Amino acid sequence: MEEPWRILEFYSGIGGMRYSLMKAGIRGEVVEAFDINDRANDVYEHNFGHRPFQGNIQTLTAAELDKYRAHAWFLSPPCQPYTRQGLQKDSADARAVSFIKILELMLHMLHPPLSLFVENVVGFEVSDTHKQLINVLLKLGFVTQEYILSPLQFGIPYSRPRYFCLAKREPLSFQNPFFNNKLLWTPPERNLLMDSNNHSNERNVEMQFFCEPIRNFLETQNLRDQQDCLGIDSHDDFNGSSADSEYGTDDVGEEVKGGTISKNDVPIYTVPLSLIERWGSAMDIVFPESKRCCCFTKSYYRYVKGTGSLLVTSQNIKLEPEEKPEVSSLKEKALRFFTPREVANLHSFPADFNFPSHISLRQRYALLGNSLSVAVVAPLLHYLFAEPT
Ligand code: SAH
Repeated sequence: MEEPWRILEFYSGIGGMRYSLMKAGIRGEVVEAFDINDRANDVYEHNFGHRPFQGNIQTLTAAELDKYRAHAWFLSPPCQPYTRQGLQKDSADARAVSFIKILELMLHMLHPPLSLFVENVVGFEVSDTHKQLINVLLKLGFVTQEYILSPLQFGIPYSRPRYFCLAKREPLSFQNPFFNNKLLWTPPERNLLMDSNNHSNERNVEMQFFCEPIRNFLETQNLRDQQDCLGIDSHDDFNGSSADSEYGTDDVGEEVKGGTISKNDVPIYTVPLSLIERWGSAMDIVFPESKRCCCFTKSYYRYVKGTGSLLVTSQNIKLEPEEKPEVSSLKEKALRFFTPREVANLHSFPADFNFPSHISLRQRYALLGNSLSVAVVAPLLHYLFAEPT
């Protein structure tokens, strides 16, 4: 194809899909992005110089979408309907409505896209919404290849398994049609090297042995200096009373007060002692030399259990990297939160990605937690846009 691919980016957030497109080196142009969240759109505009269409995707019409004459659609709809925490209400969940609506619009378009890329949480592949997605795609003559992949499979010390659906329709087709209409657990490049007798579908999502250490993803500048330039807003945790603090755990739905934390006493990324005492045994603790950390969710920094890893900063700890420390010894380990820049690094965002100064620390974590791994999505997009030779 001579002209660049024309792409629509739905649920664009802070632009993880667009960064992946750039990283993949595809001749493609995001002709429009769509997101309802104005903070996310601020960040997107700050980095890409284009403000996404700010509105509910549910209100779009087939005629409006036709006008874009897009070849490809990228979609990362809200994942809460399919997560354990989200109670798995699935397509009955109001947050699934816009996705189903837009899928059905494709059936009424004069120029529906030729290829599609969907990202979501693991669990989506067994949902009602997934069934509806596949039904619509079949009606329009798409073939699909589905993947569950984690950054760990791409050398990044970060466990974030996610579901991806790649879909194409004539005149396009996949480089390796053997995997049409299958769900795969290995990246497409590796599948390409294998024939049908190979165990290409092994669930080797946990391959941290060949990952770089976390150390390579850490900020080197003095983190205390960030405190002053972060523009921490008045309702953030660190300058208020204990009533402002809401660390705890998503799992039990209990909000735990972190105690009085003064902006002057505790650097913003330090995990307060009161939290270590209460939640130490439930924390995922990693070292700079570790080759794996847990998925950062949008509640990281507000809650400590199940929302992402915490980092040991003490130089004196002689534990083996993967050894689990005693809770009683945690206090000396000088635990801290990963910074937003470090989360962005683990998401393989480019070095020039940054936040406008009015985005608060919590908002940064929330936006990053909703985003995606460029290290995983870029090769998938590369494969999606590659045509058989
Ligand atoms: N891939 C994105 C994040 C996707 S998270 C990134 O890289 O950042 C889902 C996004 O969908 C959120 O930003 C949310 O604001 C947006 N969203 C959810 N429902 C929406 C709707 N009905 N219309 C428009 N945007 C919506």
